[in-house]
Amino acid sequence: MGLSKLQNLYMAVVTEHSKAPHHYGKVEGETISLHNPTCGDVIFLSLKYDQDVISDIAFEGHGCSISVASSSMMTDLVLHKTKQEALELAHIFSEMVQGQQDDRQKALGDAAFLAGVSKFPQRIKCATLSWNALTEVLSEE
Ligand code: ZN
Repeated sequence: MGLSKLQNLYMAVVTEHSKAPHHYGKVEGETISLHNPTCGDVIFLSLKYDQDVISDIAFEGHGCSISVASSSMMTDLVLHKTKQEALELAHIFSEMVQGQQDDRQKALGDAAFLAGVSKFPQRIKCATLSWNALTEVLSEE
């Protein structure tokens, strides 16, 4: 795939998630809110567990298309995962947007499309906001 085709696909996936985010709303459970002062992004994340598994998750907030798309992708990905799996995915995502490449990034689903953010340092915080919120809330116990 040429660079421009990949670029178009990236734009299409990000746009789709930011215009119609998945899992937008609130669930009864643990909550956390984080904001990214650099860009003004705000996220309110709520999630519910069934024993060790994330049985429901939702987010609300506002922000740039990257932060909203990333939240949508993150909630898609970690729903029905164990806490440990979700923390591992957040770690892989964080490495990816900082420019590291490795095979485990295939596990990120649509979120793998955000790898290009590593070229725009001021957008990295937009992309990682929801993942940081997830890591914080999962690490609380
Ligand atoms: Zn942003």
